Amino acid sequence: MATTTKSEKGAPPHLALFPCAGMGHLMPFLRLAAMLASRGCIVTFITVQPTVSAAESDHLSSFFSTHPHIKRLDFQLLPYKKSKFLNDDPFFIQFEAIGNSVHLLHPLLSCLSPSLSAIVADLPVASRVSQLASDLSVSTFILITTSARFFSLMVYLPQLTQDKNTKKNAGGGNGYIEFPGLGPMPVSSIPPAMLDDNNFFAVSISTNVSSLFKVKGIFINTFNWFEAEAIESLNSSGVAPHLAPILPVGPLESFEIEQASDLPWLDEQAPESVVFISFGSRTALSKDQIRELTTGLEKSGCTFLWVVKASKVDKDDKEGVEDIVGESFLGRTKKKGIVIKGWVNQEQILAHPAIGGFVSHCGWNSVIEAARLGVPILAWPQNGDQRINAEVVEKVGFGLWVRDWGWMGEKLVDGNHIADSITELMLSQNLRARAKEVKEKARQAREINGSSERFLQGLIDSFKSKE
Ligand code: UDP
Ligand code: UDP
Repeated sequence: MATTTKSEKGAPPHLALFPCAGMGHLMPFLRLAAMLASRGCIVTFITVQPTVSAAESDHLSSFFSTHPHIKRLDFQLLPYKKSKFLNDDPFFIQFEAIGNSVHLLHPLLSCLSPSLSAIVADLPVASRVSQLASDLSVSTFILITTSARFFSLMVYLPQLTQDKNTKKNAGGGNGYIEFPGLGPMPVSSIPPAMLDDNNFFAVSISTNVSSLFKVKGIFINTFNWFEAEAIESLNSSGVAPHLAPILPVGPLESFEIEQASDLPWLDEQAPESVVFISFGSRTALSKDQIRELTTGLEKSGCTFLWVVKASKVDKDDKEGVEDIVGESFLGRTKKKGIVIKGWVNQEQILAHPAIGGFVSHCGWNSVIEAARLGVPILAWPQNGDQRINAEVVEKVGFGLWVRDWGWMGEKLVDGNHIADSITELMLSQNLRARAKEVKEKARQAREINGSSERFLQGLIDSFKSKE
């Protein structure tokens, strides 16, 4: 086994990055890895094996072939043992399995050379990783992959669950909770699983946020201007005392990929004429809801690019696109749009001049990508953090959200309503102008001496001076 050697003062810091499962976690970690490496850090990337989805393993292969200077550290999981908590989500099951295997990383990390300066881990393993890092005498940082607003809710969860009214009103209630520093928040925006003590989602969040006072800093893929209120509230201990410093370093930059998608159809469309519809990497609408969406698209008369999914995990998705949206719809709309099943390069699509609007489930990466690329959003949140993220879109003012569309499966959203909202999105000059302003603010945050860049560079410099 190689011996560890402490690096010299001024030497590049060595950081190990450790994402959990799902593309919504992997993408920001890969982006941060590439950004740290391009700013002179030595980066080791911990890759959990096996991955849940094919998209994760494909992206890892492609990333390491285009970033050979980033070290890949494969980490084989112990077999999953079912716990007493409610957990039927394949990605959250993987979170549990990863948490239970973290101790196996000790020998893998202790022999790295040069020795580690810090581990940057995902929130669902924060508690286990901060223990491991303390055993290895290295610092822990956490990268938050959701909004600062949802993160505030997570750190406030212990106080929140003590309030009986919150539970009573959850899941469609009309109540509000007074949120320190953030004002009233509708209880209906809180994912019901978060208020269920028997649900792994709630347990995982409470356990991991309670370890956050031990970590050195908390990166969030957001920027000061975009979420000023939530960042300030987190920093001023409004929601939780003794929280580590908040480091808003977003929007994280895209990284070099092996091959960009070929989009000749999009190249032929007029500027800002196409609505892009995608619900992220792990959300499949019901067949009935898909049918209503086909009606909505046709009635809106807009040109569209729609990425459909039929299952939560891509490996299980066996249906053809015509089975999902119907041959007759494809036939009728041949000249109006295209439907793609499978992975697309979403950033490349959002960056395309033909795209004028984005119907999104508001996974946080999608929101921040749309912000960075200046595309207005029609928010259609389905699960988890997405309603709170939609609140951010609404507050910033670069999108619409029809609140009474409900959580996924709660109600069937009518095609006529979908058509009206898509039309409103695509015709609104105000939203378009605001989205361009957001894009400019995002660019400023990332430029040299911009708010996000200063946090990142300041941290790298602090490692160098400590080595
Ligand atoms: N994504 C993509 N192509 C797809 C589906 C998703 O590039 O076909 C990317 C998207 O750009 C984002 C991530 O995968 O970076 C999905 O994360 P998000 O938080 O938006 O949603 P989730 O998939 O976690 O629900
Ligand atoms: N989360 C967690 N433990 C869990 C599930 C989620 O700590 O078991 C955190 C995680 O940081 C995630 C956030 O809660 O970013 C929102 O979860 P959601 O399922 O909405 O998003 P996703 O995991 O799909 O990105």
